[in-house]
Amino acid sequence: MIRFENVTKRYRGTKRPALAGVDFEIQRGEFVFLVGASGSGKSTCLQLILREEVPSAGRVAVLGRDLRSLANRKVPYFRRHIGSVFQDFRLLSTKTVFQNVAFTLQVTGSSRGFIQQAVPEALALVGLDGKEKRMPHELSGGEQQRVAIARALVNRPQVLLADEPTGNLDPATSVDIMQLLARINAGGTTVLMATHEAAFVDQMQRRVIELRDGEMVRDEVHGGYGDRSMIPQLVPEQERGAAATAALTAVQAVQRQTESLEPLTVEMIASMKAARNAAAVPATQTAPDADAAAPESTPAAEPAATGPRTHPIVLPDVDVAELGVADRLGLSDGRDDEEVGPTS
Ligand code: ADP
Repeated sequence: MIRFENVTKRYRGTKRPALAGVDFEIQRGEFVFLVGASGSGKSTCLQLILREEVPSAGRVAVLGRDLRSLANRKVPYFRRHIGSVFQDFRLLSTKTVFQNVAFTLQVTGSSRGFIQQAVPEALALVGLDGKEKRMPHELSGGEQQRVAIARALVNRPQVLLADEPTGNLDPATSVDIMQLLARINAGGTTVLMATHEAAFVDQMQRRVIELRDGEMVRDEVHGGYGDRSMIPQLVPEQERGAAATAALTAVQAVQRQTESLEPLTVEMIASMKAARNAAAVPATQTAPDADAAAPESTPAAEPAATGPRTHPIVLPDVDVAELGVADRLGLSDGRDDEEVGPTS
């Protein structure tokens, strides 16, 4: 489904290659973590998969297609088979939840009937039914990421690329999002997630591909995070305790509500998140609570009274540039979809 064959990527004007001789194959239906310190080459891998970049040497094949032979004009259609979610959600701030999810379908010319069916389905999948009329600022950070996931899935892609999807979320919400990604994967979607979240990687025991300075140093079927030396440590002690306690409480609350995964290693998640939260404030400041690093504090409006499936489709004034991810959503031009070749 995704194959890297001895892939090297050198960016212009740089001495060291961003990727050097990287070789792996991801099968349909796998859940794979891509881990490594900042600058190790994770984003470059995702960009190569989306053909935002091309290798300097070697071969990348995605969905049964050698990307070297993919004509530029077919790239937007190819990208519609791949869903992407990001650390910063990238929602259209002036559009409702429904419009955000419908946006790609509208721009690519899907029928009203399909949109009416597909958008509520995608929102139900991510647990957001009833919130179609809300604006992004009326949602918590976790809910915003769910909208972004619904948007990524509404085209029913075979692959979901997630680039640090929990990086802006508090511990409890991160657990929710991880469980959602695991559920999406259980439904057959291949998931490749770039992350620093050691707790999730260790807990989920899925395949781990680790990069270090552009080289693949590990490919383990049931891996853990491995080298934690890049994870920030906390000072002073008092802050670590307070932050960890807040995070632990939040994670435990979520654990009581969920049965879909094996119990998470609470201490790992709490200490990781607390480490990040506390590292984000000056040492003299009071320790942050579990929500400190997350955009979760916006008060949510009451849900709209209208039921989800009767929501009228309003074509938004499309400003593709506003989205900032037009290429990744396959919106580089407005023509109808087209086959990109055999998929595997
Ligand atoms: P990660 O996602 O793991 O942080 P990246 O793939 O972003 O790593 O970066 C890998 C290396 O390539 C880094 O040294 C980075 O500075 C370099 N790099 C990434 N993108 C570019 C670019 N567009 N131009 C030049 N160098 C880049």
